[in-house]
Amino acid sequence: MRIRELFDKKTVFSFEVFPPKKTSSIDVIYNTLEQLRDLSPDFISVTYSAGGSGNGHLSCEIASKIKDEYGITPMIHLPCINYDKAEISAVLDEIKSRGIENILALRGDINPDIEPKNDFRNADELVRFIKSKGDFDIAGACYPECHADSDSLVEDILNLRKKVDAGVDHLISQLFFDNSAFYEFREKAAIAGINVPIEAGIMPVVNKNQIERMVSTCGASLPQKFVKIMQRYEHNPEALRDAGIAYAVNQIVDLVANGVDGIHLYTMNNAYVAAKISEAVSGIIGA
Ligand code: FAD
Repeated sequence: MRIRELFDKKTVFSFEVFPPKKTSSIDVIYNTLEQLRDLSPDFISVTYSAGGSGNGHLSCEIASKIKDEYGITPMIHLPCINYDKAEISAVLDEIKSRGIENILALRGDINPDIEPKNDFRNADELVRFIKSKGDFDIAGACYPECHADSDSLVEDILNLRKKVDAGVDHLISQLFFDNSAFYEFREKAAIAGINVPIEAGIMPVVNKNQIERMVSTCGASLPQKFVKIMQRYEHNPEALRDAGIAYAVNQIVDLVANGVDGIHLYTMNNAYVAAKISEAVSGIIGA
């Protein structure tokens, strides 16, 4: 199933998972996927290492299983900055041979310890390359609060337009905690002539490690309401989990009421949290 066809029919609800670390058993992700299947997402995307850890093959394998064993449409992420054309071609051959039709075309983060291969400088070049290799459905990433490499949101959105013009069928946003940032971005993107569906990326923050990571590394602004909740419950794991779920549900209800094209839930491989959020919003998304 091609994901672009879904947006004409409904508000899309999708999940993102990542392959286990090399030290963990592969069974852990398959147990998680078994639980996620019961939540009937429209598709499940699988992240792919930008280089260094070499787990790309595992991402392809997991995406295949999502399709063949769990009967759900898979999307595979594909970052290009640290791969050359021959390597990307080989991955595309594998993706095609496994019958996977949906790819999230990405540049990948620049890693100061890895010399980029220079065959692809930005995701738009990868999008064109993928299109030259087959009939895939191609998604791209977007950044409601501006990508860290851009000097302004205007510059970032003009670059996003180049990526969409290269052949992106829909966009998935970086996580955000302030819906108004998403609405402003969506309006600016429309003014720039970007008219493909945009899924909102929602990350439920449910433990203390995540809070610390959010504060130090993620470019998303943290609204007072969010900060207060995190401060109030940071020493109470169960309450923090429930508050994080409630915050994400609140965001989703507001997004759906404001006509969002889709919700992409960063599950962090946590099936319990995905289930609680799905239960809370399934009637709302489908209505
Ligand atoms: P680009 O679209 O290339 O943009 C990167 C920067 O370059 C931006 O500042 C942009 O404005 C600028 N730019 C874009 N095009 C041009 C151009 N033609 N000329 C000049 N400047 C340009 N990373 C992974 O390694 N693996 C994953 O699985 C993964 N999954 C992700 C999923 C989602 C939903 C998101 C939002 C991000 C994901 N990332 C992943 C992270 C992503 O790789 C990084 O954010 C990366 O830094 C940018 O990737 P991009 O595809 O958005 O890059």
